[in-house]
This record gives sequence, C-alpha cells and structure tokens, in this order.
Amino acid sequence: MAKSYLSKHVENLKPSGIRRFFEIAATMKEVISLGIGEPDFDSPQAIIDAGIRSLQQNQTHYTSNRGLNSLRETLCDHIEKLYSVKYDPLTEVVFTVGGSEALNIACAAILDPGDEVILPTPCFVSYQGVITLAGGVSVEIPSRMENNFLPDPAELEAAVTDRTKAILLNFPCNPTGAVADKETLVAIGHIAEKHDLVVISDEIYDRLVYGDGHICFPALEGMRERTILIGGFSKDYAMTGWRIGFACAPEAIMNGLARIHQYIIMTAPTMAQYGALEALRSCESDVLRMVEEYDRRRKLIVQGLNYIGLPTFEPLGAFYAFPKVDVTGLSDDEFAERLLHEKHVAVVPGSAFGPGGEGFVRCSYATAFDQIEEALDRIDQFVKSL
Ligand code: PLP
Repeated sequence: MAKSYLSKHVENLKPSGIRRFFEIAATMKEVISLGIGEPDFDSPQAIIDAGIRSLQQNQTHYTSNRGLNSLRETLCDHIEKLYSVKYDPLTEVVFTVGGSEALNIACAAILDPGDEVILPTPCFVSYQGVITLAGGVSVEIPSRMENNFLPDPAELEAAVTDRTKAILLNFPCNPTGAVADKETLVAIGHIAEKHDLVVISDEIYDRLVYGDGHICFPALEGMRERTILIGGFSKDYAMTGWRIGFACAPEAIMNGLARIHQYIIMTAPTMAQYGALEALRSCESDVLRMVEEYDRRRKLIVQGLNYIGLPTFEPLGAFYAFPKVDVTGLSDDEFAERLLHEKHVAVVPGSAFGPGGEGFVRCSYATAFDQIEEALDRIDQFVKSL
C-alpha cells in the first residue's frame, strides 16, 4: 500500500455515518428523505433581500475579525432580551462560519493534547471529530430514552478524571430532540463548578422548542464565567447555506477563540453577516411561523411512529424524532438500509450518532407535512412486512 502522508489523528478520523445513506438515496427515485438535518423552509425573504442589498451596496470587503459591530451589538441585545445573559459586543462575541466553526475554535482554544471532554451521546456527528482534531479525547456517557435522553449527572460526574477539561452539551439535542430541564442543567453546572470545568453549550436549536421554552446554560447562576455558548442562524432562521454562526464567552476565553478565528478564517462572510443582522432585526414572526409548522409535523410523526409500533420519545426541541426500531428485530443499520431499498424512505441509523444511538433511527421532520404522512404510510407497510 502507498505510504500515507496523513497525520495519525486524521487517519483515525471516522467518516460520518450520515453521508453513506444520502449517497445511496441520491441514486434512487421517489425517495422521501427524513434524513436531512436542515430546514426545508427557504430563508425568509427579508434576509435574502438584505444579502442582495449588501452586495449591491458593495459590501464585498472584509469586516472586522469578530464581525460587524452592529451585528455584535444586535446579537448581544437579542440574547439579553431572550435569556437575561449579558455579553459585551466588543470583547465577548465572535461571528463564525456556521456553528461548525464556533465549535471547532472552541475546542481548539481550550484543549491541550490528551484533554478529555465529557460528551453525552447519542450526539451530533461532528463532536467526536472536532474534539479529536483539537487534540482532545471524547469521553462518552449515555443519554437513555428512559431518562428522556438526558445524561444522568451522577454518571457524568463519575466520568470526570484529572484530565477532564470540558463538558459538551447540546440542548435542544440533535439527534434526539431532547430538551434538558433546569434541575438537570443545574446539577451539571454544580459538577462543572466543583471540578472547575469549561462547559461548551451548543444551543444552535434554541428557538426551536415546543414545551416550556429554552434554558440558556450561561444564564444559570455562576455558569456564564465558565461557558462557551455556541449559536447560529442555520436552524432557527433556515439559513444553512449562508454559513453564519457565533460563539459568546467571557473575554479571556473569547480572546483564545478569536485568535484562532483570525488565523484560519479572518471574518465570516460579509453578505451572510448582513443577512444575520436582518434576521435578528425583523424575522421574529418567521421564526414563530416555522416553529408552529414544525410543531404540527412533530405531533404527526411522533403519534404516527408510536402507532406503527416504534416507541418514540416526545421530542421537545429541534426537528428530529428518534424512534426505537430494534423492536422489529432489525438493527438500526439494517432497518434504515432496508427501508430505503424497499420503501424509498431515508432515515439515519442511530449508531451514526455514537453509543446509545444503536437500535434507534433519526427521522427529521423538517420535511413537508404530506411527505411525512406518505413516509409514515410506507414505514407502516415496511414494519408490517417484516
Ligand atoms: N450543532 C448541531 C447540534 C447541529 O445539529 C449542527 C448542524 O447540523 C451544527 C452545530 C452546525 O450548524 P452550522 O454549521 O450549519 O451552523
């Protein structure tokens, strides 16, 4: 075999388990995809207009490294209004290329080689890779269906070692749709405080909640000083292709993130920053309209899957349902592969999201209502045929 010039940690990086299914699905006709983790809505018109306007006005240059001042100020006001947490626009915010970059620079800024990050799983497919690339080690702990897919604080604390540097949280959660209650978050906060850990809180789905509203982790008493808040516009405002997100953190931590951002990215795309500014200024009603429609679909899919006989936990956030499919006697991989080939419905095997995801599949309901109805019919036929 030819010599590999790749570094060992890149050689060891596993490809995402999601892609394989999309590649198969792309070769097939009349596939209903419940596989994709992005809104089916287009970006609100006001955002598109703002992007076009920015180009027409020749806003085609770099902005300041951390983003337009007006955008940083508007974001800080927005977060304060929603969650009563105050960030300084000049020193505590950076706009990034999606939440993805924010996650990357957060890990790169705080991890030394071998530092451990405690990670409740199943989780977003990028987390382990991002931690590995930053030189860190993921320490996975399970979130179980019988516990509403929340980590057990006692298990989390048992995973702390003298190498633990951070806890990575994601509520609302991709892939389970779980939203953590205040008691669990406070308990995790106490552990972070006791062992002096950083909390990276990926709250990219913060506006897509269907229950009591979102709890912003740094808003909890004493947590702001040890939290890196990750957010973005991809999900809440249906802006995946614009590639715009952000991180907020206390100044000393933010200086680290911003330094990396400066070297690897320089500035988030200028047009996207203008789009994001418009989103914050004028698109609240669009967010509410999308949430209302997701909620209608959520009820349909959860009820439908349970009726079919696939036990499904009620997701309270994001746009994913996470049915248990091993009750059919198939593994999650077999279920997803056969459902795709036999009924042309794409879902993602839960094991793609790490330990604890085995035996489940992720169904995104960011798909039109009638498509979900048709997908449920096909899943019903498939399960009956087994
Ligand atoms: N975090 C979570 C939990 C996600 O599900 C995603 C995208 O699927 C991201 C971060 C990255 O989002 P983006 O880079 O589009 O802002």
